[in-house]
Amino acid sequence: MKASVDPELCIACGLCEEICPEVFELGDRETAEAIGKVEGNEEAVEEAADSCPTNAIEIEY
Ligand code: SF4
Repeated sequence: MKASVDPELCIACGLCEEICPEVFELGDRETAEAIGKVEGNEEAVEEAADSCPTNAIEIEY
């Protein structure tokens, strides 16, 4: 499983980082990035993807 954030869609709301800080980081960036390891965090990654208001998180299985 792989996760990535589409920078064209991300509005930097911070929700993904709140739900799954192990994988998603926003920090001072203009858009979030999937920087962490997805392995072991699959459920939280899926929850973050489902919760993203702009569907900017792409998951590949
Ligand atoms: S939840 Fe979606 S829009 Fe919000 S920071 Fe994460 S990727 Fe960007």
